[in-house]
Amino acid sequence: MAAVSKNSRTSSTTHRFYCPCGGEVKMKTLFENGKVKNTAECEKCKRVERRPSDFV
Ligand SMILES: [Zn+2]
Repeated sequence: MAAVSKNSRTSSTTHRFYCPCGGEVKMKTLFENGKVKNTAECEKCKRVERRPSDFV
């Protein structure tokens, strides 16, 4: 925790998103028609959106 600073927000790997239900949104990578497709899914209510920012 010592390294946590304002600069840490630039790292997307540590950026967490939360669903309105309170569950944590996890990124998932799917392969569809030979293309890589990223989706975001709430752990709690299983809601799926294209992007974590769609959970509002
Ligand atoms: Zn949810």
